[in-house]
Amino acid sequence: MKTDCDLLIVGGGLTGLVAAWRAQREGLKTVVVAQGPGSLPFTSGALDLLAVYPTEAKRYRESPWEALSELIETEPEHPYGRVGLRGARAAVEDFLLYLEAGPLAYYRRGEENMAIVTGAGTIKPTYAVSVSMKKNRLAWSRRRPALILGFEGLYEFSPEQVVCNLQDRWGGLKAARLDRSVLLDGDRRLTVTQLAFEFERPEFRDRFAGAVKPLLGQSRFLGLPAVLGFDRVAAVCRDLEERLGVGVFEIPLLTPSLPGMRLAALLKRDLVEAGVDFRQGAPVSRLDEKGGHVSAAYRTGKSREERILAEYVLVATGRFFGGGLEADRQGVREMLLDLQVEAPGDRDNWHMASFLGAPGHPINRVGVKVDSMLRPVGPGGVPVYDNVFVAGAVLAGHDWVREKSGAGISVVTGYAAVDSVLAARARAGGGV
Ligand SMILES: Cc1cc2nc3c(=O)[nH]c(=O)nc-3n(C[C@H](O)[C@H](O)[C@H](O)COP(=O)(O)OP(=O)(O)OC[C@H]3O[C@@H](n4cnc5c(N)ncnc54)[C@H](O)[C@@H]3O)c2cc1C
Repeated sequence: MKTDCDLLIVGGGLTGLVAAWRAQREGLKTVVVAQGPGSLPFTSGALDLLAVYPTEAKRYRESPWEALSELIETEPEHPYGRVGLRGARAAVEDFLLYLEAGPLAYYRRGEENMAIVTGAGTIKPTYAVSVSMKKNRLAWSRRRPALILGFEGLYEFSPEQVVCNLQDRWGGLKAARLDRSVLLDGDRRLTVTQLAFEFERPEFRDRFAGAVKPLLGQSRFLGLPAVLGFDRVAAVCRDLEERLGVGVFEIPLLTPSLPGMRLAALLKRDLVEAGVDFRQGAPVSRLDEKGGHVSAAYRTGKSREERILAEYVLVATGRFFGGGLEADRQGVREMLLDLQVEAPGDRDNWHMASFLGAPGHPINRVGVKVDSMLRPVGPGGVPVYDNVFVAGAVLAGHDWVREKSGAGISVVTGYAAVDSVLAARARAGGGV
């Protein structure tokens, strides 16, 4: 049967985007169907690889790679265990080289984790960040005098909260706010996206620098909420540093989070330019499957149904947040193919009595069981389809919130799933 694509990726979150990025580079004709944007627009855009392990001991790890080797050894059913150390390294290295060379110019601290200040005034461990947060790490690690600056009327960020939470450990930290009227005409409420738009204009940066200079005093760094433009954030940071003579950095906010949106926009733009067919909006509502083989997917829009014929299918639909899993009184269901889900027995066992207990709630590890090729398995661990693979948050056996491994699992398994597709294709005698 003639197919529309070599690989159909269901899901346009970080996992689906990374898989599509790799698939197109390997010459696979790729279609991505994404119902929504997934979790990226809500994230810091930072790539957490593995910062806490073992999670029960809440042990912070300086070296994610050392922690990863231990995890792979002790938890072979964890997504990282499925892929293995060599596969994980190849994926992270390759993807970060791409990001480091791009307009967001990602930054990492060699092979080690780093700590950055968040908009809540907490310290977040991570592995790689947009270059706009490089000096966030530097300022915190050196505890040099710094000004944390907010904007009157920007409700998403409180510089006082950041300073209040950190001042015991960081002398010389001070908070200030700029009045809207100093920067902008009119009296509309300030928003993150409006400020990002303004920061891309040199005239605005000029006005901003004039207003901030008198507030700096002894400060060696200036920390701002993550509002420094859309896809030119590295250039905006540099320009502000030249105007102000201090290190400038962004502080990631909770939602809406521009660094996550920037990453999603960059990937989508590059994918579409490279010829990936990206279809957002209507979900994949059903698939044609027979004898352990999926041949077509259907998207149901408002007025018509669209059929996509695919040689291979990657399920990258996320957990509950993305819509890949749903829970009810009976249990947890995988929504696309009703794949076998590993869930912690009946609902009484889903949660521990202690909300923030160290081992984490068993339900946080729920997901689809796969083999070492990332193929979904049924009872007895036997693959249920010959051309379906699963990657990302929807996988069983990880607790990304506690492990600090969210984006890392997406990158590693999204990348590795394409390896599996290529291997299956080669075995079936199909070239690229
Ligand atoms: C609030 C928040 C903050 C986070 N912060 C960080 C952080 O700072 N650092 C970090 O490393 N990680 C962070 N994470 C975790 C990380 O973002 C996620 O683990 C990762 O992005 C999951 O990606 P995913 O693509 O597997 O799933 P999702 O992002 O959930 O994407 C699922 C995709 O599948 C689509 N989909 C589902 N069903 C269908 C269907 N039937 N048809 C078509 N499309 C479908 C959805 O629309 C979506 O596009 C955060 C997560 C959240 C929720």
